[in-house]
Amino acid sequence: MRPELLNPLFAEISVLKGVGNALSKPLDRLGLTKMVDLAFHLPTGWVERHRVSRLDHNDIGRTIIITLTPTDYRAGGSPRAPFRVWAVDGAGNGVALVYFGKNSGWPRKLLPIGEPRVISGKLEAYGDQLQVIHPDHVGLLEEALQIPVMEPVYPLSEGITNARMRDLVSEALSRAPEMPEWIDASVLGSHGWKGWHDSLLSAHASPNSREARRRLAYDEIFSGQLALMLVRAASRQRRAEPIRPTGALRDAVKLPFAPTGAQRRSVAEIDGDCAQNHPMLRLLQGDVGSGKTWVALMALLGAVESGMQGALLAPTEILARQHYETLRNMLSGVPVNIAILTGRDKGKAREATLMGLADGSIDILVGTHAIFQEAVSYRHLGLVVIDEQHRFGVVQRMMLASKARLNPHMLVMTATPIPRTLTLTYYGDMEVSRLDEMPPGRQPIRTTVSSIDKLVDVVEGLGRHIAGGGQAYWVCPLVEESAVSDQAAAEARAQALRARFGDKVALVHGRMKGPEKDAAMARFASGEASVLVATTVIEVGVDVPNATLMIIEGADRFGLAQLHQLRGRVGRGDKASTCLLLRGNALSETARARLALMRETNDGFRIAEEDLRLRGAGDYLGTRQSGEQKFRLAGDADISDLIDMARDDARLLIERDGGLASARGQAARMCLYLFERDAAVGLLKAG
Ligand code: ADP
Ligand code: MG
Repeated sequence: MRPELLNPLFAEISVLKGVGNALSKPLDRLGLTKMVDLAFHLPTGWVERHRVSRLDHNDIGRTIIITLTPTDYRAGGSPRAPFRVWAVDGAGNGVALVYFGKNSGWPRKLLPIGEPRVISGKLEAYGDQLQVIHPDHVGLLEEALQIPVMEPVYPLSEGITNARMRDLVSEALSRAPEMPEWIDASVLGSHGWKGWHDSLLSAHASPNSREARRRLAYDEIFSGQLALMLVRAASRQRRAEPIRPTGALRDAVKLPFAPTGAQRRSVAEIDGDCAQNHPMLRLLQGDVGSGKTWVALMALLGAVESGMQGALLAPTEILARQHYETLRNMLSGVPVNIAILTGRDKGKAREATLMGLADGSIDILVGTHAIFQEAVSYRHLGLVVIDEQHRFGVVQRMMLASKARLNPHMLVMTATPIPRTLTLTYYGDMEVSRLDEMPPGRQPIRTTVSSIDKLVDVVEGLGRHIAGGGQAYWVCPLVEESAVSDQAAAEARAQALRARFGDKVALVHGRMKGPEKDAAMARFASGEASVLVATTVIEVGVDVPNATLMIIEGADRFGLAQLHQLRGRVGRGDKASTCLLLRGNALSETARARLALMRETNDGFRIAEEDLRLRGAGDYLGTRQSGEQKFRLAGDADISDLIDMARDDARLLIERDGGLASARGQAARMCLYLFERDAAVGLLKAG
């Protein structure tokens, strides 16, 4: 349970006076629902005000605080012209206070003729005339000192003003408690950081609060690291059956290639982990085509050789079926019983599979998340391989880990090479193996970039390619991140291409029904269709070696990592492949740099590091795919700077006080709750 100390911060904003329906929309849009959200809604800029006694052209462009006396009103000549209040300073210099909008009653009331008022606003020139448009404060003389000289500027959304936001934030800050210190004293000292409460107030009060903000960022990174380490520690405490491969089945696999050094090394690392009596949690990173499937197969066979079962979890139906076929082929002649289970398998076939899993006659199960449904029980599940980490965040890892009846070793595979800092940030609970060596004999993929204006030529080129017996992917862009419009774009493109190439064009998109999708994929895989128009559903996995041309429409709208994955669909056979990136015409510098990088290299690890540099972590992992918790205080620079320290700090704490029972441990729990990592604290209690 969250400590009571934190309750005021976790109260809903709606309990505040005057926060009704009108404000709840803009607040929601900004993701602000609780006091703590407001407290962490840090200013993005500052307005600095200058107290002056005289109007001066030298102050044009500055925000001033000044005492003025209104002398005259001037309504606009037309209904859309502004209402002006003429006012003078003590020396008789004049300025126009300008109000747009129909209602002149309000400025008249604020600024009665002949009565001095303190006003604040940005001084501007309108021809020779000085003016202030919409003064941000107007008050009685005795209120002068209440106008802040330094005012934070907050991220806003339509329907809420900065002044209102500032008030709400102040309310939230007034409820923020003093907290016990969770940061190690030496870390705190080395940066000269203040306590949490002080730092929070400074971050909202002063533009010179870099270190205060860094401290808050550190807290967030620290809580993330601590949570990951608790996951890890909890999995260390759980018991798992050691897997001891005999080689009997592995040796029976006959493949036309020898494994790469990286593949062998990864299997050795996996075997080392699985020989322990606590569950493995290992991440296998390998670029598209680096041969992860073979590694997964060896791991699964290791479990089967030890008399246990193995399961392979794929993110989509298509991929589950493809993995199933691939593994079955690799296992031909090997005495292993492999089955598939997805949400679509129903009736008798499903019953038979469930029986086989329960009685142990099925050795390896491939499927979608259906394989972890309640109804599915295994006789002796020893290892789970999860393909495509990004759809399987730490929350899911914790859930799986907390299912007591499932204590299998876990191998998670990702085709997206992840930069080192991000690996630590998001997957710090896992061991890491990297397939950093490609199987020999790969044909390089030539990548070119072309404007969408060349569409006619591109279609001509596609025509020649398929006339020569080749196959091609045509990937359609994301339209406003919405599945409906993605589908519309893909359908429109398919229709246009069908007008030219007839039924040689197949289409798949995420909203198609399973059988329909499979049928389209099958037509492409068999060569009956030459062009596969697709949304990013083909992103992970699909393998058609004869497809040697990939056209990606709207390439500038994809993330680099995603482009790299898509590109990995070609270059799978022994023929040279081409990837054509079609771009829009209005390209930002960053977009240009990213496309240039794609043209220049095929090295996924390099692309990952560069993409992180160009776009930042939040973007890199992609909101659509990532199941990971977002950072709201720590920016990318903070993460790179502070991750190592936060990691060491968290690790030391756990080593000394694994139950987080000491005073500092209790404080650290507070930090976890503050960043809503309650589930991690939950693991502590269970453990
Ligand atoms: P990934 O899943 O990492 O993208 P795959 O496991 O699908 O890659 O492997 C890509 C292709 O490379 C497959 O056709 C596979 O049979 C082949 N392959 C895997 N390992 C090797 C190797 N050591 N030498 C040659 N080819 C390999
Ligand atoms: Mg794969």
